[in-house]
Amino acid sequence: MALKLGHKGPEVKRIQELLNLHGASPKLLEDGDFGPRTQAALREFQAGHFDRFGTGLAVDGIAGNETIWALSQLIQPVAPAAVQPDALSLQRLASLHPKLRQEALALYHEVCRRGLHIRITAALRSFQEQDRLYQQGRTAPGPRVTNAKAGQSYHNFGLAIDFCLLLPSGQVSWDRHADLDHNGQADWEEMVFVFKDAGWAWGGDWTSIKDYPHFEKTFGLSTAQLRALHAAGTCDHDGYVLI
Ligand SMILES: [Zn+2]
Repeated sequence: MALKLGHKGPEVKRIQELLNLHGASPKLLEDGDFGPRTQAALREFQAGHFDRFGTGLAVDGIAGNETIWALSQLIQPVAPAAVQPDALSLQRLASLHPKLRQEALALYHEVCRRGLHIRITAALRSFQEQDRLYQQGRTAPGPRVTNAKAGQSYHNFGLAIDFCLLLPSGQVSWDRHADLDHNGQADWEEMVFVFKDAGWAWGGDWTSIKDYPHFEKTFGLSTAQLRALHAAGTCDHDGYVLI
């Protein structure tokens, strides 16, 4: 129930106590009477706090669900429990192009901090490995997994990653609807939000064939341009194309 001006009772008293714990100034009388001072203190609190999805609270002086949730954070923190970064994911991210490596690692840590269990399944993929994947389902057994030949994928230049969910059991999952951290938003969507927000292109936005686990950051270069640089030997000492 939303509490507002004129309401009285123990729930109002609780709001006043919480506002005081959050540093209401002047300190409120904890009398259970929702008067103009309580309303002003509540507005001030709302102006500087966020709901559980990170959106600023409405500054309306009414203690609705989201405001009460935010007020309660001091007492019962339900902030997401940070997840330990996955060693295999860190190792793969370290193979990214030097221009992307630090950023990708920082974003991955951000994802962990948000309590998401994510595994990076691929980052840099050598030309040789790309060829092997391309032959699968063509000259080699197995289903076709890619239409990209060596040098036709941004992975070949360390400019793309693939991810999936890493379940508590240690198994991996491509379930785009799972909400393992129970915050009302699919973990897949949260991961997509973090990377897209940092300017990465997501395969799920493609109109032809969607590639939901894939992100890339291309610096405006086509794979043809990257192949040309690679063929010309315009690379650093580790073999990454200079861009
Ligand atoms: Zn990919």
